Amino acid sequence: MNAQIINGIEIARLVRAEWKLRADRLIQLGVPPGLAVIIIGDNPASSIYVRNKVKACTEIGIYSEVHSFPEDVEQSEVLDCIQELNESSRVHGILVQLPLPAHFENNRIITSIAIEKDVDGFHFFNVGALVTGNAVFLPCTPYGVMTMLMRHHIPIEGQHVVVVGRSNIVGKPMAFMLLEQGATVTICTSKTRDLAQFTKNADILVVATGKARMITAEMVKPGAVVIDVGINRLTNGKLCGDVDYEAVKTIAGYITPVPGGVGPMTITMLLCNTILAAERAQAGIRMVATN
Ligand code: NDP
Repeated sequence: MNAQIINGIEIARLVRAEWKLRADRLIQLGVPPGLAVIIIGDNPASSIYVRNKVKACTEIGIYSEVHSFPEDVEQSEVLDCIQELNESSRVHGILVQLPLPAHFENNRIITSIAIEKDVDGFHFFNVGALVTGNAVFLPCTPYGVMTMLMRHHIPIEGQHVVVVGRSNIVGKPMAFMLLEQGATVTICTSKTRDLAQFTKNADILVVATGKARMITAEMVKPGAVVIDVGINRLTNGKLCGDVDYEAVKTIAGYITPVPGGVGPMTITMLLCNTILAAERAQAGIRMVATN
């Protein structure tokens, strides 16, 4: 029996249509939501991501501005730019496209973004807020995964979820969001001994490793929900996920394809977070970190 496909393109379309109504309302109130994107260097993948984000903003009615810096820019210049954006009333969300050049201190950049404009949810305050069940912004990729599960009415409470990968961007926030919803969560890493022993016991398996097709059919419980976050480019130029899709879809209950799965959801949730930030600004809600 083939798994039910969780179609990220279709869910993203529905979510964007709903949030466009909220963006329209803000535009009518004279507060068009605004996103600023900072990009440093000329990493081709980053340039594509930024172009796609700007295009998605335009489509939904979000004002956007891109601040591009050369690879050898001084960190202080970027910090000055972030400071100006923190104070700009036109900008409600600020995103710094990762990865940063080697001479940058990632943490310094991430924590210089105003908490209420940190639409990626990477600021330490926002990470702490998420972990303690007080999320300000949900990081976009795991937020997208949660939205996919919810749109398919897939129960989370009481389920055993295995998250493979522990990055700050995907694996860790994913695990905490699922924990918050009452799942029993196991996190696996490259150091995990006998990975299959864990994955085979997952009711829901979320994979974010960046290792092409590493999850094979033998590693999946029949009927499990399989969410493939990975995006890998094969030598023939084609994209594939971290899951062996063709084999696993014959035994899983649900599965996300690559492309067309989690990818379209990530940008969609960035749009949602930007609109949410603008709504809060319009309502006069400020987030302040106290020392
Ligand atoms: P990272 O490289 O930051 O993290 C990968 C994680 O996978 C690490 O924690 C690593 O463990 C773990 N890992 C690697 N190999 C194995 C293995 N053999 N067994 C178990 N765990 C393993 O990647 P990201 O989290 O940023 O991204 C993961 C994938 O998701 C990539 O393909 C990326 O392109 C994609 N991605 C997709 C997005 C989307 O919108 N669909 C958004 C963001 C990312 P350890 O910590 O021990 O090294």
